[in-house]
Amino acid sequence: MENYMKLEIPAKSCNESLVRAVVSAFAVQLDLSIEELADIKTAVSEAVTNSIVHGYSNMKGTIKVVCRMIDGCIEIEITDYGVGIEDIDTAMQPLFTSKPECERSGMGFTVMQTFMDELKVSSKLGEGTVVTMKKRIGG
Ligand code: ATP
Ligand code: MG
Repeated sequence: MENYMKLEIPAKSCNESLVRAVVSAFAVQLDLSIEELADIKTAVSEAVTNSIVHGYSNMKGTIKVVCRMIDGCIEIEITDYGVGIEDIDTAMQPLFTSKPECERSGMGFTVMQTFMDELKVSSKLGEGTVVTMKKRIGG
C-alpha cells in the first residue's frame, strides 16, 4: 500500500504528543507490532524535541512532518527552519550535546538510530535541519 501525509505545526512542546499521535494513527495502517509502534513514537519524539529545543531554542518556529508508506516501510521526515547543525558527524556521536547545562544527555540521535532502520540528517547553518528516518515493518 502506498500512502502519505503532511503535517505542519508550531514548534511547541505541547505539539509533541500531537505529532506522536498523528504519526501513530498513520503508521497503524501497516500491520505493525506494539513494539514497532513504540519505537517509531520514541524516535519521532526525539526528532521533534530536537527541533524545538535546538533548532529554535524554544522560540517561535514551524515544524513540518511528512510520513510515507512505501513497500512495507514507513518513512518519516521531520524538518525545521532553525539554526541548523554545524557538524553533523559530531552532533550524531553518542553523548554529544551542545546543551549539557539543560541536562541533555546527547542520546537523541542514538535513540533514533537504534529504533529505526535508517537515519539520515541533512542540515544547513541558518537554514534548518531535515531528519529522515525509515523503518521496515514486520522485518
Ligand atoms: P538528548 O536528546 O539526549 O536530550 P541532545 O538533544 O543534546 O540530548 P541529540 O538529540 O543526540 O542530543 O542531539 C545532539 C546535538 O545535535 C544537540 O545537542 C544539538 O547540538 C544538535 N541538534 C540536534 N538536532 C538539532 C536541530 N534540529 N537543530 C539544531 N541542532 C540540532
Ligand atoms: Mg535530543
